[in-house]
Amino acid sequence: MGKSEELFELAVTRMPGGVNSPVRSFRAVGGVPRFIRSGKGCRLTDEDGAEYLDYIGSWGPMILGHAHPAVLQAVMETAARGLSFGAATALEVELAGQMIRMVRPLEMVRMVNSGTEAVMSVLRLARAYTGRDRIIKFEGCYHGHCDSMLVKAGSGALTAGVPDSPGVPAAVAADTLNARYNDSQSVEDLLNQYSGQVAAVIVEPVAANMGVVPPEPGFLQSLRDLCDRHGCLLIFDEVITGFRLAPGGAMDYFGIEADLAVYGKIIGGGMPVGAYGGRQDIMKMVAPSGGVYQAGTLSGNPVAMAAGLAVLQQLEKNPGIYGHLEGLATRLEQGLYSLPATRVNRCGSLLNLFFTDRPVRDLDSARTSDLSRFSSFFAGMLKRGILFAPAQFEAWFLSQAHTEKDILETLAAVAAWKEEQ
Ligand code: PLP
Repeated sequence: MGKSEELFELAVTRMPGGVNSPVRSFRAVGGVPRFIRSGKGCRLTDEDGAEYLDYIGSWGPMILGHAHPAVLQAVMETAARGLSFGAATALEVELAGQMIRMVRPLEMVRMVNSGTEAVMSVLRLARAYTGRDRIIKFEGCYHGHCDSMLVKAGSGALTAGVPDSPGVPAAVAADTLNARYNDSQSVEDLLNQYSGQVAAVIVEPVAANMGVVPPEPGFLQSLRDLCDRHGCLLIFDEVITGFRLAPGGAMDYFGIEADLAVYGKIIGGGMPVGAYGGRQDIMKMVAPSGGVYQAGTLSGNPVAMAAGLAVLQQLEKNPGIYGHLEGLATRLEQGLYSLPATRVNRCGSLLNLFFTDRPVRDLDSARTSDLSRFSSFFAGMLKRGILFAPAQFEAWFLSQAHTEKDILETLAAVAAWKEEQ
């Protein structure tokens, strides 16, 4: 028995399902999760010493690769001065300034500790600003695990078959309305049906939690227009797309301004961080400048701020990173089409593979993927040292550390798996 198997035996007795987040479990694909000891660049090493070419990238934050020297240096220098003060620090002001500079529509931000916390807080703010209770989200989009967003949710909830989680009060779920991704008519219908009651439309500008589903041309603009027409706010959940699609995230990439946006992942460089921000007139309603209460013992933690700041500075200094990512992702996308009856969905450095011959443009079409073929693919890749997310409905992430050689290695593994079928 390997170390991962031994650790997993212990882990299941100590933690539900043996993991601290369901997406890490191998339930959907079979087998035991690999327990990771270290990471460097685009490679991970597990507790048995086996090495993997990593396409999980900690689910998005590691756009520069693991253990990037500039990020490590910032973290170590900051940690040496103390881990947390529960007081204002210069680093918070700097990271907020860096985000505001890189994302033009952002005028103010509030730091929190996770994407979930950012979403929960931004929804409260949107409700306070508009004086309305209902929120429109999209089937198969994931916005963290706060009660109101666990209704037809994507990611681990979808993989585990619990898109509507037990424990969410019916009264809370009733205020969450679900539209179909890439179907602005379904949004308009809800806005008409619940006229004057919808506070906000929240959307992943590129859906990345039902697999990757890019917005069709015009979809995001139609959301902007509908929100304006119905007096509700447009919220972009940029927890995945922020600073990944472009230096200014999806707003920059698609040229659409949301009223509010939510961040996480990359802005913490691997440390636990989230943030929400947007127009100043709305953000000023947050306590203590306004009455919308939201607080956090560790919010704006100096070590997390230092890590995030180091990543954003690297991205700003080296805009060529985005071209590098685009080039590699395109190469991988093209190579994957060597597999029969598949669809590769890609936007920038976010992509994944569906085992279906139908175009995948929403949750229903994502669900046509053959999950047993996905499990076989995942296992075939893992045995060749390539680690993808252990579930169909998750994105694959490329990093600056990936190279052309890594893509060729991946495609050779894909070809070998194809031969085996
Ligand atoms: N929003 C999106 C789009 C996400 O992908 C995630 C997590 O994957 C979240 C929100 C929640 O973030 P966190 O896991 O940091 O709570």
